[in-house]
Amino acid sequence: MTPILVPPAIEPAELTWHADVPESRQFGDIYFSRHNGLEESRYVFIRHNQLQARFASVPEAGCFVVAESGFGTGLNFLATWQAWQTWGPSHTATLHFISVERYPLRLQDLEKALSFWPELHEPAHELIANYPPLVRGAHRLVLAGGRVRLTLFFGDIQDAWEALCFKADAWFLDGFAPAVNPEMWQAALFEQMRQHSKPGTTLATFTAAGAIRRGLEASGFRMQKQAGYGRKREMLTGRFQPDSAPPPTQGPAQTAPEIAVIGAGIAGCLLANNLAKRGYAVTLVDSAEEPGSAASGNLQGALYVKLGVEYNHQTQLALSALTFSQRYYNASGKQFWHPTGLLQLAWNNTERERQRRFLECNQYPQNLLRQVNREQAEALTGAKLESGGLWFPGSGWVEPGKLCKALAAHPGIHRVTGFTVGKVAASDGSWALYSDNPDNRKILADRIVICAGHQSPHLVPGSEALRFKAIRGQVTHMPGPLIESPQAVVCGARYLNPAHNSPGSQLSVIGATFDLHSNEPKPTSESHRENIRETSAMVPRMLPAETATGPTPEQLTGRVGFRCTTHDYQPVAGPFYDAEGRELEGLYLLTGLGSKGLGYAPLLAEFIADQLTGQPCALPLSLAKRLATGRMHQPKMASS
Ligand code: SAM
Repeated sequence: MTPILVPPAIEPAELTWHADVPESRQFGDIYFSRHNGLEESRYVFIRHNQLQARFASVPEAGCFVVAESGFGTGLNFLATWQAWQTWGPSHTATLHFISVERYPLRLQDLEKALSFWPELHEPAHELIANYPPLVRGAHRLVLAGGRVRLTLFFGDIQDAWEALCFKADAWFLDGFAPAVNPEMWQAALFEQMRQHSKPGTTLATFTAAGAIRRGLEASGFRMQKQAGYGRKREMLTGRFQPDSAPPPTQGPAQTAPEIAVIGAGIAGCLLANNLAKRGYAVTLVDSAEEPGSAASGNLQGALYVKLGVEYNHQTQLALSALTFSQRYYNASGKQFWHPTGLLQLAWNNTERERQRRFLECNQYPQNLLRQVNREQAEALTGAKLESGGLWFPGSGWVEPGKLCKALAAHPGIHRVTGFTVGKVAASDGSWALYSDNPDNRKILADRIVICAGHQSPHLVPGSEALRFKAIRGQVTHMPGPLIESPQAVVCGARYLNPAHNSPGSQLSVIGATFDLHSNEPKPTSESHRENIRETSAMVPRMLPAETATGPTPEQLTGRVGFRCTTHDYQPVAGPFYDAEGRELEGLYLLTGLGSKGLGYAPLLAEFIADQLTGQPCALPLSLAKRLATGRMHQPKMASS
């Protein structure tokens, strides 16, 4: 019996192996043909959706969307990825593959299943390296440098099609046989497929069952029988052609909109880079000369989000952001990413009790996080500690300033520096950014995204009193000889980073202060003292005995940044709606990341880029709602 798991964990597939063919013990059916699974996949799904010709005609900056029922071993996905590489356009178009899996394979089973297909070795290796931890919900994997995007929903198919936002070009219906898994073939699902299809969407499935054919026909698909693969006599194909819609015609090719991003901090740089890689013209505007000059310019920052005791939407969002950013940084290379692991220290009684309840109420896979006692925490971090905590093996620290510069250097990004945006205004169906500088410069764009941190609220046209707050955060650069640096990041009331070799010196960044009332732009001795006091309270032996009195603030340098947060401490990302609920078309916000920008920005940049390009959405609707801009208006007073 499989033990019942508590969310966010999800039950894995239990497999029996027949040589190289896995069988599901949950369903008593095999994942693919014993004859040749890869050839079956190419014949049934790729050939019968005419993917060769359709891939070849995808325009520049366009995308093709495949939706699949039953991810299983990922064999169909990898075969489609390979077909995209062979026949897809050579320019910057994207293959989106959306799939759902109720019982995901354990990583070691996935590795075994895919080891039998040497010709898929390369994409299989990349899939395995990015395979999400077994937690429920939507996981976006950005593969092949962004040419392939996989949205993998771990959960039931009905929930997946309800939660996700996309229109498919082609469907692969690959649930187990209808006789053993009728839930995958219900009329309600065919209705959901109708919602996610457009005139001309095709489908293919290995089954030829009459009830399935009739069900799909009732949902608007014109169905046909075809010769089946191997020993199967027949299979089905279909084309969505609802009675009310005219047959699809090839409309004039649409030109991609020009997009301007205001703010070259971590959010703006990630977004501009994301769009440029998708083939979009993007202008990145900032008042500073260098990207990452403001709050995102620190030498070190911890990749850290706080997961709530209650597994609610807020926690789900934080969890998705954490796993996405870990994949993102791992794929970006080690020049600015240091996956040392991170300890969330149980540093006082309140936090110890919070962690106890967190572990009691939730179940997380060990490769995502686990509880460690003091001895284990000391061995993992190399620091002398007074308690254990939660260990995040896939986290670490980032060099945010360096990362911003690398992202903004993409040749597809047009950078405008020294341009302080004073006003954003609608202008003849597009948007204009007016410079605050005496030069009267102006930038026009079809779409604008405001990623300007604590300056963002001043730039939103006609919105004076949005519920943002600026928080002063000062970090302290602790010189190497004055500190016992850990090997991994230690977080509590403050964070303490491993030693960083910056040019000419070695230091550890500690911090940061959290001050809602000061707008002092320069580092102060008082804030340095506060950082040292709070970090030493968490890690009492941070300062070696010989410097136990601590450095004098005059020996220290640091940096001040103003982070932008919101009334509910949740980020803001999406199209802008005014106080009356009207959309200001073409205007988007991506800000309010507080001190968790390194954790949230990669996923939210992906989410906004999906919307700007009209591509399938990385986030389920329930989480997208949490980010909505409309909540930033002051609630209206009830009239007396
Ligand atoms: N396409 C897969 C491949 O390339 O390996 C094979 C898919 S296998 C035939 C069917 C899959 O559907 C199994 O992995 C199974 O766990 C999954 N499944 C079954 N019922 C489901 C449900 N209600 N919701 C989501 N997935 C389900």
